[in-house]
Amino acid sequence: MGTRDEPTVLPTGGPNALGRALGLLGDEWTVLILQRALLGTTRYTHFLDQLPISNSVLTSRLSTLVTEGLLAHYVYQRNPIRAEYRPTERGRSVWSILLAIWDWERNWVPRQKASLPTMTHTVCGLPFRPLLACSSCEKPVEPRDVDTQWGPSGSWARSSPEAITRRRSGRQAEASFFPETMAIFGNRWSSAMIGAAFLGLHRFSEFESALGAPPSLVAERLQLLTEQGVLTPARNDKRTDWVAYRLTEKGRAFFPVIMLLLAWAERWYHAPEGPALVQVHAECQQEFRAILNCDQCGHRVRGRDVQPSTAELHRD
Ligand SMILES: [Zn+2]
Ligand SMILES: [Zn+2]
Repeated sequence: MGTRDEPTVLPTGGPNALGRALGLLGDEWTVLILQRALLGTTRYTHFLDQLPISNSVLTSRLSTLVTEGLLAHYVYQRNPIRAEYRPTERGRSVWSILLAIWDWERNWVPRQKASLPTMTHTVCGLPFRPLLACSSCEKPVEPRDVDTQWGPSGSWARSSPEAITRRRSGRQAEASFFPETMAIFGNRWSSAMIGAAFLGLHRFSEFESALGAPPSLVAERLQLLTEQGVLTPARNDKRTDWVAYRLTEKGRAFFPVIMLLLAWAERWYHAPEGPALVQVHAECQQEFRAILNCDQCGHRVRGRDVQPSTAELHRD
C-alpha cells in the first residue's frame, strides 16, 4: 500500500494535474462511491445497497478508484471471498472538495437545501460553513485575493479532462446528487469556461480563442452556464455586438470547489515540468494553496473534525 500514497508522476507533455483530476472526479458515480467510502462503506454489496447503481457501473468505478490509488482493495477472507475497499490517503484527502461541493450545492441549488444535512465542526461543536483560506497565512480568501498565472505545465489544452471512465452511459443524470456541480465538472468545456471566467476572460471571442473551441460549442456552453445562473451576459451600450459574460454571485461562490480540486490535483499528480497554475495570495505574498476554515470558530477544518448532522448523507 506504501506506493499508493506517493504522488503519480505524469507523462511529459500530457494532461497536467488539473486535467487528470477533472477527468477522474468529473464523473458523478466516482464521486458518489468515494463519498460513501469516506462515510465508512467498504463492501461491494453495501455500495450496491446504498446507491442506485448497476453492477457493471459499480464494478468499473471501483476498479478505476483502485487503479488511480484512491481506494485500496483488501481480500480478508478466501472461502467464500470477502473483500473490502478502503480509502487511501489520496482518497481520504478528497474530503475537502466534497465538503466544498456540499456547501455550494446546499447554498445555491434550492432543491438541495432540504436534502443535504448540515455539518458540525466537532472542534467548536457548532454547525458551520467552510470558508476558503490560504494555507500560508490561514486567512480567509476571496477570488480577487489570489493572483493566478499558468505554471510550467499549464495551458487550456493540458488542463482539459482526460476522461478516465466512460461518461455517456445515460446513468449519470439519473443519480444527480450534485447536479449543478456535475454540470460544470462533468463537461470539459464547462469546467474550462468557468476557469477562464475566473482568470478574467469575459467575451465570446476571448473564450473561443483561449479554449480553441468551435463557436457553436462556445455559444452552447455560455447559454447553459447562463441558464444555470453561474454566468450572466451584460450588454455594452457602445457596442451592441459586444457581450461580456461575468460570473454571478453563485458562480463566484464556486471558487472554493475549484481551488480545492486544484490543491488536491497538484498534491497527487506531478507533471515533470512543474505545476499547472502558480498562485499567490496577494495579502501575504506567499504561494496560495487552498484550505478550509470554520466560519464559527475561525480554526482550520480537518477532515476528521467534520460530522454530518445525520449519520449519513442521503437523497431525500
Ligand atoms: Zn496568505
Ligand atoms: Zn469551528
